[in-house]
Amino acid sequence: MIKFLDLHKQYLSIEHEISNAIRAVIRDSSYIGGEFVSKFEKEFAEYLGVAGCLGVGNGTDALEIALEALNLPKGGEVIVPANTFIASSEAITRCGLKIVFCDVSESDFTIDVGDFTARITDNTVAVIAVHLYGHPCKMVELNEIAERHSLKVIEDCAQAHGAKIGDQSVGSFGDLGTFSFYPGKNLGAYGDGGAIVSRDTDLLATCRRIANHGRTAKYDHVLEGRNSRLDGIQAAVLSVKLQHLDDWTQTRIDLANLYRQVIVNPNVTLPKERFGTKHVYHLFVVRTSTEDRDRLKSYLESREIQVGVHYPKSLPVLEAYRYLGQQEEGLFGWTCGSTVLSLPIGDQMNDTEVQIVADAINDFR
Ligand SMILES: *Cc1c(COP(=O)(O)O)cnc(C)c1O
Repeated sequence: MIKFLDLHKQYLSIEHEISNAIRAVIRDSSYIGGEFVSKFEKEFAEYLGVAGCLGVGNGTDALEIALEALNLPKGGEVIVPANTFIASSEAITRCGLKIVFCDVSESDFTIDVGDFTARITDNTVAVIAVHLYGHPCKMVELNEIAERHSLKVIEDCAQAHGAKIGDQSVGSFGDLGTFSFYPGKNLGAYGDGGAIVSRDTDLLATCRRIANHGRTAKYDHVLEGRNSRLDGIQAAVLSVKLQHLDDWTQTRIDLANLYRQVIVNPNVTLPKERFGTKHVYHLFVVRTSTEDRDRLKSYLESREIQVGVHYPKSLPVLEAYRYLGQQEEGLFGWTCGSTVLSLPIGDQMNDTEVQIVADAINDFR
């Protein structure tokens, strides 16, 4: 069996560090807030080269709190790609704003700059740039356009810990960057977790207040907020794992490069990387014709190779978004869901396993 992602094997490789880290949190009863959370926040901000980091409950909360902190006028339009996980767009509605879906580029599945620009109106207030599959969006271009139209920029980095454009990490380009530490993400906790990062410490202070019941002091609430926190045990686990992240990412990149060399089936299209970017391969997504995709999926599963589909349906065609009336547009981001297939990739996978997957794909007719 070739697993889609082997978290158990990863745990075995860091078992002692993890046990010590968790024991230290329990010894200090540092469950909520405290030094382990502050330590991870500081380490992650340094890792990304941003001014600060706020740990929160999960990546969905991170998006909601980030958007709320920007204090945008109610009913304003926020542009988000059609092909992403629903958390990227849910936050918009939660904040009393209006979703406008835009297309993604066929070459890297991130926001199509032309289509994004075409959807900007006088009511547009922000954009959520999703670094899907671990590939950075065209942040320099998006920032330029956003600045021209006075739009706020949030980067959804849930799949892109450590991805870069040149030397600059994603999460540091926009007004705010949000991360998920869901266990299966490239940097995953042992439960839920998330973070918001920014170059702007005032904006981050606003996020911190919202995430902590609008508090400035223990019972001094300056506004109504909510409760969303990264707990001490998760922070301690993340501090351990952060030390390994660059090695693990390099393994993913090496495996992706190997896949590129050894998959030679002409009916299977390999993912592209934009020049000058560091793709962190949260997912390695190939494409086939619509007719072939489900057959290839079943075929690989019959050979005990686990695969995934991210995502089978675009957001605008979901029942939840029928009310927006954007289901009929038929652009790439609307239709690509029937052609994508995510192959196994992870920090514990090896070259032999990549070769087995590639051999199976090459045999597929
Ligand atoms: C995982 C994910 C999220 C949500 O993160 P959670 O921690 O599960 O709430 C948001 N956006 C994208 C693109 C994701 O992949």
